Amino acid sequence: MTAIASTTPSARPPWLRGGGDCAQRIAERDWSPTPLGPFSRWPNGLTGALSIALRSQVPIVILWGPEGVMLYNDAYATLVGSRDATSLGSNVRESWPEFANLNDHAIREGLAGRTVHYSDREVTLVREGAAETLWIDLDYTPVPDDTGVPAGVMCFLANVTERVAAERRAEFLLALSDELRPLKTPADIMDRTAARLGALLDASRVFYAEITDAGMMTVERDFARGVGSIVGVHSLTSFGPDLLAAYRAGAPVVVRDVGGDTRLSAPAREGLTAREVGAFIDVVLFNEARWVGLLAVQNASARLWTIAEERLVQQVGERVKLAIERARAERDRLWDLSQDMLARADFAGMMSAVNPAWTKVLGWSEGELLTRGYSTLMHPDDIASSTSAIASMAATREPTRFQNRIATRAGDWRHIEWTAAPEPDGVDFVAIGRDLTESKARKAELDGAHEALRQSQKMEAVGQLTGGIAHDFNNMLTGVIGSLDLIRRDIGAGRLDRAERYIDVASASAQRAAALTSRLLAFGRRQSLDLRVHDINALVCGISDLLSRTLGEQTVLETHLCPDLWSAKTDANQLESALLNLCINARDAMPDGGKLTVETENISLDEHGTRDQPGLTPGNYVVLSVSDTGTGMSRATLEKVFEPFFTTKPIGQGTGLGLSMIYGFANQSGGHVRIYSELGMGTTVKLFIPQSTGEIASLEVVKDAIVNGRGETVLVVEDDPAVRQIVREVLCEIGYGVIEATDADTALPVLRSNREIDLLITDVGLPGVNGRQLAEMARASRPDMKVLFVTGYAQNATVRSGFLDQGMEMLTKPFALDTLATKIREIIDG
Ligand code: ADP
Ligand code: MG
Repeated sequence: MTAIASTTPSARPPWLRGGGDCAQRIAERDWSPTPLGPFSRWPNGLTGALSIALRSQVPIVILWGPEGVMLYNDAYATLVGSRDATSLGSNVRESWPEFANLNDHAIREGLAGRTVHYSDREVTLVREGAAETLWIDLDYTPVPDDTGVPAGVMCFLANVTERVAAERRAEFLLALSDELRPLKTPADIMDRTAARLGALLDASRVFYAEITDAGMMTVERDFARGVGSIVGVHSLTSFGPDLLAAYRAGAPVVVRDVGGDTRLSAPAREGLTAREVGAFIDVVLFNEARWVGLLAVQNASARLWTIAEERLVQQVGERVKLAIERARAERDRLWDLSQDMLARADFAGMMSAVNPAWTKVLGWSEGELLTRGYSTLMHPDDIASSTSAIASMAATREPTRFQNRIATRAGDWRHIEWTAAPEPDGVDFVAIGRDLTESKARKAELDGAHEALRQSQKMEAVGQLTGGIAHDFNNMLTGVIGSLDLIRRDIGAGRLDRAERYIDVASASAQRAAALTSRLLAFGRRQSLDLRVHDINALVCGISDLLSRTLGEQTVLETHLCPDLWSAKTDANQLESALLNLCINARDAMPDGGKLTVETENISLDEHGTRDQPGLTPGNYVVLSVSDTGTGMSRATLEKVFEPFFTTKPIGQGTGLGLSMIYGFANQSGGHVRIYSELGMGTTVKLFIPQSTGEIASLEVVKDAIVNGRGETVLVVEDDPAVRQIVREVLCEIGYGVIEATDADTALPVLRSNREIDLLITDVGLPGVNGRQLAEMARASRPDMKVLFVTGYAQNATVRSGFLDQGMEMLTKPFALDTLATKIREIIDG
């Protein structure tokens, strides 16, 4: 402000003396046309306040009268910059239209005798030729006229820009750090930083570039608003030697006007102008002495950068650099330590980066991998499917997954599962390869372990049997020895008529013992699936003595064998093992005893019947079911029962392999297994075995030419397990279904049910209710019930006549098989 010294000092009122430029300008001005009028009429309150203001270093403005005529000091003039030229003596509303409301309020309040305070008011001022944003605190105090009534306000201003800017910077930096922390890739970090900084500074372009030793600058991402993007690789030499020298010095390079800055070489200026850069701040970032990055904030037109902005860019630059270093270190660690093969490759067929896992897995060196097309590493049979997966990823820009075999340097193949995702550049993709060879080998190992466990499961079943079998075996030997004894006695007595019968009994017993032994041996043997045509009824009968041994006294075993059962194709040994396992499960589910039913039936399934049974194809099946009256299974258990090792039994009792083994066997043999179970209601497991019309494989047990049953059901009540078992076995073998009971208590519920029973065979000498009484009770609900009594006592005609009613017969122990068979047939048919 130039003072015009045209007025004599003496003409100046004393309160204007020593007040600087503004005092001078006030003194020189003719105030008569203004609302204030000439000096001489200015009230003492105004002149007093003014004299203080003009001598103050604090920016002060007096707004006089309701119009707010402006009088201020030099500090104020400096603060407001270009506005000073038009403000002095003007009405505040006209000079500061953007603050009209604020000043109106302050004047109104001031004239009413009150003070007003505003803090952190943002204002844009042009100072020294450039627009600048300032934050200002304003304090308004009333100034009285000569009558003591407020006639104006005196406003003290404080430029708090530094403080506010520092706060905002700190906030910004904090927020930025928080935002950058979770970001994993340098690209994301650059992206986010540029966007945030660009928005804060209202810049047209912001980017963080990485600088290589070769003097190249790579711009991976940029924030650009109203100007083009400059993503790409740029040579640093184009900046010109002066600018490069400035960069090397380390301080931010601040250019307010590209066109007029002589530090820039002509080509640098041209290059910048071509990229629409009118002003910029470049902050160079170092690692030790090495130049690693550059953070650039650019403005399309010339711009006055504040010190605060410079400092902010510098601080942001340091943070980006650190964040990128951290992300890179993490990525490098991952890259180096990953067991998976990581690669960056292009759709054209080459890889540009591979991690150390490649060499570990495949043996190829990095150089070998990067110099040959990746498809040359693939197994010839896998190239088509792999390249088409990669091509479709290029087209859809969606990640993909595929498997192939990759050649090792040693000449064999590795199974690799690939997950690949396209890069945004449209040229490259990244791929992660997991070596499945190992896991395939592990699976083979696991299969081995399964097999071993399956075997042990089998042995466990055998172990469960041995106790019972020893007993069984004794009975059979007793049969043999007893018969031999009888024969010896008869021979001694010169009688040979009964010898043949005894020999039959002995040989039957011996045969059963032999069958049992061979079955036991077969059980322990490990066999591959041997599918042959079998009579499933015969198989069930053959194993029924093992089953009843397994079940124990409390559980009643019933067999319902379909008389016209189709023959079916299965592995006899595995089927027996399955049946045994199902019976053990059933027994375990009935800790307090119950009923176990083994049934066979023919089932034809059409499309309709198999629709809801995945795994079953339409066709004819022999179905073998095992039902128990035990605990049943919850839905959650049902869902898992076929899983290997799933067991609800205590350690040592369950292996969890029984059902999984049965499942595998059923599927392998072209059949299926289904479970129906309800908690508290019991369980039925059905094995579907495919029908076969081929010739039945020879069975171990030779059938006698005896009169066979036709599937009729016989209820056998016998307290002696050995006898019960013989009878059951015989009946089974000749084609009858059998329900067993140990005494009247277990027999009566069966008799009173509506189950079909064609014949009751009962021991006479039962504990409690005897056989005869039982027959009586049976006839109460089934008047036509046919009954065969078995007794150990010699036949006596008188006993017989009084003892037997219509439809009753008696058989004396011991009896020959064919005698029993003939007798049963006679009674049922009679
Ligand atoms: P394990 O008998 O060794 O437990 P399984 O595979 O034979 O293994 O059976 C798995 C599980 O299925 C059993 O632990 C049991 O919870 C359930 N389960 C199998 N059969 C029956 C059944 N008849 N009644 C109730 N639950 C059963
Ligand atoms: Mg089991």
